[in-house]
Amino acid sequence: SPVAEGILRRKSFQLRNIQQDWQDSAEGQKMQELRRSLPAYKQKEALLDAISRNQVIVVSGETGCGKTTQLPQYILESEIEAARGALCSIICTQPRRISAMSVAERVATERGENLGDSVGYKVRLEGMKGRDTRLLFCTTGILLRRLLLDRSLRGVTHVIVDEIHERGMNEDFLLIVLKELLLHRPELKLILMSATLNAELFSSYFGGAPMIHIPGFTYPVRSYFLENILEMTGYRLSVYNQIDNYGQEKSWKMQKQTLRKRKSQIASAAEDALESADLRDFNPRTRDSLSCWNPDSIGFNLIENILCHICRKERAGAVLVFMTGWDDINSLKDQLQSHPLLGDPTKVLLLACHGSMDSSEQKLIFNKPEDGIRKIVLATNMAETSITINDVVFVVDCGKAKETSYDALNNTPCLLPSWISKASAHQRRGRAGRVQPGECYHLYPKFVYDSFAEYQLPELLRTPLQSLCLQIKSLQLGSMSEFLSRALQPPEPLSVQNAIEYLKIIGALDDNENLTALGRKLSVLPVEPKLGKMLILGAIFNCLDPIMTVVAGLSVRDPFLMPFEKKDLAESAKAQFSGRDNSDHLTLLRAYAGWKAAERQQSGQEYCWRNFLSSQTLRAIDSLRKQFYYLLRDSGMVVNMEKCNTWSHDEHLIRAIICSGLFPGICSVVNKEKSISLKTMEDGPVLLYSNSVNAQEPRIPYPWLVFNEKVKVNSVFLRDSTAVSDSVVLLFGGSVTRGGLDGHLKMLGGYLEFFMNPGLAATYLALKRELNELIQM
Ligand code: ADP
Ligand code: MG
Repeated sequence: SPVAEGILRRKSFQLRNIQQDWQDSAEGQKMQELRRSLPAYKQKEALLDAISRNQVIVVSGETGCGKTTQLPQYILESEIEAARGALCSIICTQPRRISAMSVAERVATERGENLGDSVGYKVRLEGMKGRDTRLLFCTTGILLRRLLLDRSLRGVTHVIVDEIHERGMNEDFLLIVLKELLLHRPELKLILMSATLNAELFSSYFGGAPMIHIPGFTYPVRSYFLENILEMTGYRLSVYNQIDNYGQEKSWKMQKQTLRKRKSQIASAAEDALESADLRDFNPRTRDSLSCWNPDSIGFNLIENILCHICRKERAGAVLVFMTGWDDINSLKDQLQSHPLLGDPTKVLLLACHGSMDSSEQKLIFNKPEDGIRKIVLATNMAETSITINDVVFVVDCGKAKETSYDALNNTPCLLPSWISKASAHQRRGRAGRVQPGECYHLYPKFVYDSFAEYQLPELLRTPLQSLCLQIKSLQLGSMSEFLSRALQPPEPLSVQNAIEYLKIIGALDDNENLTALGRKLSVLPVEPKLGKMLILGAIFNCLDPIMTVVAGLSVRDPFLMPFEKKDLAESAKAQFSGRDNSDHLTLLRAYAGWKAAERQQSGQEYCWRNFLSSQTLRAIDSLRKQFYYLLRDSGMVVNMEKCNTWSHDEHLIRAIICSGLFPGICSVVNKEKSISLKTMEDGPVLLYSNSVNAQEPRIPYPWLVFNEKVKVNSVFLRDSTAVSDSVVLLFGGSVTRGGLDGHLKMLGGYLEFFMNPGLAATYLALKRELNELIQM
């Protein structure tokens, strides 16, 4: 209405005056000067001009040139100057919650305002946003959820999608939705921002949208690979060279034997260095063989040596160490803190930078330390592009990154660390040349680097699509295959088909591909469907306490440590927890319960040492449990969490719920004279990983194992399994609602008859007869 419009106009003028006052103040002047020194400033007019002339533009530029903090601000400022300040609404998405929060805070500071005035942020479960917020930084997931409520994004004038080069699944997904929306909203502006130079891909996706590059300046950075580092830090290069040859020609096993034979020659740290290069099963031709990763072998001692070398011998300047996740950042930090030089706070300022750090820690990262103190930042690949620390001169690159999964809970690493791409390695190296020429230490040999892929595969093409398909369904975006065929790089139709079939089997979709009640609940929970299903059933069966532990355990890595030289001791420590009841999940549950009890008596650490457990991992499980708790509470699935102590810990029930989540990950068990034969429907004979409690048993007194994951090496190996009975599979495997009970049994029949288990077939047939009678009655 004209009245409302009048009010907004008046507000717009006020905004303009307030901003003018700030810019005229002494502090404001200083800030302006700083902002003008960024490379983006030179392109300001060109950028604004391109935005006004086009519906979509693609902006690229070196990390740190001012895309994220400046460009959204330029738009806001130009709207305010044109007295449209109160009429615009700019949304800028970030792939990570921590960057959404820190960027919003930075931009508010640059504008001399408080967070929540004209600039705010919103991330899951948290936000800072006022009535007059015009520029909102949020995670991509938040914008997707907003689209769920309002398909046309009413009132929004600009959408900025940041860090699109990362090719996260959420971002690719969002682009499909926005591409469609632009047709209906001709006045909506879309700005895509990317760090590296594959801007053409995005431009052509949007019908040849103009590209604007912000040229930046970086100093040269010298690269060292493992072979150079070993020499530099005093290892015997000759020994390394021999190993290098083995690495190319022989299997890791052979190398290990040779290594052991020559142990007297080789410093133990050199072995550590090799472990970090992870040469096991190395075959330069297939990248796949590189992805097996021993989490205990990131090469902490080598990193320690390099850091000492820098602190003792190198010029001043901050060090940035790229690790894979917050768990190994924490372990490394613990180790370094007890080091005489690196742990000395008068010489070294040791900081961590990852998704779950708090904001006071965050500020320290950007600050310059006092003279004579060296800042060392241990970071995840977040520091590759989203966060720029200006005074970095040295970079240490472990060569790996944890590939994130779809909108997984904050710090829920669902996938294992794997080698990064050449583009990532380049990006990491570049972080060292912001203020002066820098040095980069790659903790892997050059020939491993040569085998890296050019770019990382987009997440959409390397993750199972089940969660995404659920999302498409709940957003009512039509046929899943048709929708995904419109992606930047569409996934294989077969992957989509697999995902749909899987969702039908677990009962999230009905036969017509419509969401079931379970499917609707699962689409609200930002965890993998199998984990979500366990949580929901855990809540329904009043068994949530142990189930949250099991699910958290499945999301982080195995807390049982198996140090090479003490393997026997570690195995017998683990066996104490197994209760000989054929379940890795129940084994974990007991270990966790024991640790919790020990923690209450302040002896958690000692308990971990005694039992070969990782206290880091147990703590991660603990914090994840809390997040599950909030999630279930906020989604209304659990009302009264205080009932905690009345929760069932019945092992049969826990087994059944585990089966409900893991099915159709199921294999048959046949106990033979001297061995156990395991088979799945799809693969035939399969094997268990040796660290499974089921691998230690001479026989398994159950007909089935449900498992969490299978990995194909030479044979198919199963990880984490729980033995279950016939009746559990009948009642909890798959979905009882699919096509009615009869349909359920038919589906199960496919899985179970295959194994020709006569006892089960009889039960199944009897049940089926009974049901048919029931249905006809
Ligand atoms: P880009 O998005 O192009 O990578 P940014 O806009 O994130 O660049 O950063 C521009 C500059 O602002 C960088 O020099 C960076 O160090 C600085 N900067 C960003 N956030 C902060 C902060 N919270 N505190 C201090 N400086 C910051
Ligand atoms: Mg940025």
